[in-house]
Amino acid sequence: MSEAKFIQALKNNSIVEMQCIPKSDLHSHSGRGGSIVYIEQWANVKITPPIEPFNSLMDMNQWMYDNVRCHCPGFMGYLKRIEAAFAQANTDNIAVLALSYSTDEIWACGTLDNFIQIMNDLRKNFAPNTTFLPDLALGYNLNEQNEIDEIFNANWFKGIDICNYSNIYSMSELKKVCQKAHESKLIVKAHIGEFGSADDVMRYAEVLELDQIQHGIAAVDSIQVMKWLADHKIQLNVCPTSNVMLRNTKNYQSHQIRKLFDYGIPVTINSDDLIIFNASVSQEYLNLYNAGLMTAEELNVIREIGLESIGCYPV
Ligand SMILES: [Zn+2]
Repeated sequence: MSEAKFIQALKNNSIVEMQCIPKSDLHSHSGRGGSIVYIEQWANVKITPPIEPFNSLMDMNQWMYDNVRCHCPGFMGYLKRIEAAFAQANTDNIAVLALSYSTDEIWACGTLDNFIQIMNDLRKNFAPNTTFLPDLALGYNLNEQNEIDEIFNANWFKGIDICNYSNIYSMSELKKVCQKAHESKLIVKAHIGEFGSADDVMRYAEVLELDQIQHGIAAVDSIQVMKWLADHKIQLNVCPTSNVMLRNTKNYQSHQIRKLFDYGIPVTINSDDLIIFNASVSQEYLNLYNAGLMTAEELNVIREIGLESIGCYPV
């Protein structure tokens, strides 16, 4: 039933109809996952979304500080941004939501138990119908390698998401962390192939035994790598607007997801940093459809891949 409604919603170019259809968001950085409007209303301010693509991640982070974080400072502001991410999942009918949290976010809550309690309460209050798959974001803090055992032992996180690897970890350290995560039955994801090369995508996926890759769009430059990803059923959690806004793709009309999908790689469509890029998951689907990149039926296949990926997680 959802399939026909989803296809009709795309053809009607209706964001309201799109919001009624169950979808997944498997690549969202928790404190950036809410909508601009939610923060505007809470802080009683006007936030103008970025109009032009950013020149670098540094530019993007600066925009975030100057336009969002200044209106929701400190710990209370952080909690409001997390609340916004759950509220967004509820509004956009995100049935399966992965949010990634750094260890800094955990310790800002005092203890791991406090952090877990706070996040569980926010989910219960603001996204009660959403299946929640929290990821531990790694690569932000030099100390985090010493904290991983304690965090994994709490059995709360469902996956890890290696975000910044080059500054903090050697390849052998990364491998050790990923092995530990696999032993703890966590889904292992990493940000690879957003900026790098197709070879990077395959190398990291192979060495770290990645289950999923955040972005991975650089794989498009190598038929061999695309075939390898398809053969190994490695899912790419793609974020089209993020790619446009960080100049990793020219536009929606030529986005790499078309070719990745054609090579049989499981792909999903996600928001990345909604509070910056200002495109909900519903809007992401509409953007690709309206650009003529993919048919409504193909986009529905992608929607179903996202919803079914819950089956990869141990119960
Ligand atoms: Zn990301």
